[in-house]
Amino acid sequence: MQLLELADLFDDLYPLGKTCNTSSVWSDGKFISRQSTWWEELEGCLHKHFLMLGQSNVEKLLDAKLNETTAAVKRSTSIENIELNSTGCLTTLSNGERIQSRYLIGADGARSFVRNHFEVPFEITRPQIVWAVIDGIIETDFPKVPEIIVFQAETSDVAWIPREGEIDRFYVRMDTKDFTLEEAIEKINRAMHPHRLSFKEIVWFSQFSVKESLAEEFFVQNRIFLAGDSCHIHSVNGGQGLNTGLADAFNLIWKLNMVINFGASGELLRTYESERKPVARNVIETSGELVRSTKYSDTGTHAEDYVKIVEKRAGNITGMGIRYGSEGLQGSRLHDFEIFDGTSKVRLYSLLDYTKFTLLVFGDCELTPRVPEFVNVIRIVPEKNANSFWTESRQYMNQAILVRPDSYIHGTASLDKLESLFEMATV
Ligand SMILES: Cc1cc2nc3c(=O)[nH]c(=O)nc-3n(C[C@H](O)[C@H](O)[C@H](O)COP(=O)(O)OP(=O)(O)OC[C@H]3O[C@@H](n4cnc5c(N)ncnc54)[C@H](O)[C@@H]3O)c2cc1C
Repeated sequence: MQLLELADLFDDLYPLGKTCNTSSVWSDGKFISRQSTWWEELEGCLHKHFLMLGQSNVEKLLDAKLNETTAAVKRSTSIENIELNSTGCLTTLSNGERIQSRYLIGADGARSFVRNHFEVPFEITRPQIVWAVIDGIIETDFPKVPEIIVFQAETSDVAWIPREGEIDRFYVRMDTKDFTLEEAIEKINRAMHPHRLSFKEIVWFSQFSVKESLAEEFFVQNRIFLAGDSCHIHSVNGGQGLNTGLADAFNLIWKLNMVINFGASGELLRTYESERKPVARNVIETSGELVRSTKYSDTGTHAEDYVKIVEKRAGNITGMGIRYGSEGLQGSRLHDFEIFDGTSKVRLYSLLDYTKFTLLVFGDCELTPRVPEFVNVIRIVPEKNANSFWTESRQYMNQAILVRPDSYIHGTASLDKLESLFEMATV
């Protein structure tokens, strides 16, 4: 949500979804517990909740935006070949078109042609866990609220996820690929006994087998990038696949922009893999721990174990705890908070622009730094001021913070050493 907001892609999407920040555990028809602290305790962000919304809405939005540019998605067209040459990549499409480019991004999903073409190792682990996925409009006497519900029986094999509009989603662990819709619905009813549930309408029914893998390389031969499911796949638990893919894109595109248009060193592109691969590894571990906990528990408390794992790994699942670098402000996510623009309240993030770095100068400072064209400068003074941005917050005060286009802190400096920050930006 935060990343889409930076690129002005969010306002159309938000009203379509359903917000949800609690999860509860039920067993034998009885309510056991409800948790939301892992959302409420998040610092420096506005949206302290999931936005439950089908992926097709995100894709429609991105499609519409691309249609406004010269880069609309070509449907029913596949890549047939990629040759590397002295100026980059020559790609042949199934419609016969040949495209010469400096770089190529393989965002072509779990069975990636690009990954296979360049023989990037991608060893798949299959924990033999199979889920049914059912979306539909339900009728039930269960006291339903829009939250994630996990049910404890012998194991925890049913999860109930609210979705947008009238739709609800159920994940039902079947442990076999050979099952019917009726068998999956019967399992839901066993989990929520003595309550009953039936579907007025089924919108979607499918199955998926959990597969886990991490590509050995995300940046191949200095020309080819892999992003999204083409370089990391895992169980759906924690809802991190699309989110991680989008964060890959936000991490990569500004770096390409800096190298292609602003003369940054090609070394900057290497940080795509060094930053995103550990995140993807963590996502695979998190979703792997979650999915296994539904089946195995030493204490027979699968559902509660599940929620504890979510709490423990909340920074990863919400994305808000992801950082590039181990300590200090550098590499951490810029915190969002309210500041004033004269007399009106605005949020710090509303001032960021994904096409640029932002230099936030917190404090009284008369210097006018020589600023490269890829940097916006925003001064935020510590006292009420009718003609400027101001805040009483002490966070970041008397510091200059150079924020990357993807909202991570690139570097900090004292107010008299601002220019050192721009040198860092082009390295
Ligand atoms: C049941 C289920 C529930 C999920 N729930 C969530 C969730 O709650 N939250 C979340 O964040 N994620 C979720 N995910 C994961 C999410 O769907 C994926 O991680 C996401 O779709 C990956 O996006 P992608 O663009 O990398 O790949 P894809 O969505 O697979 O897109 C790849 C694209 O490349 C195209 N393509 C493939 N080969 C070629 C070729 N040779 N030439 C040209 N084009 C090609 C494909 O047609 C496709 O359009 C879920 C997944 C499943 C199955």
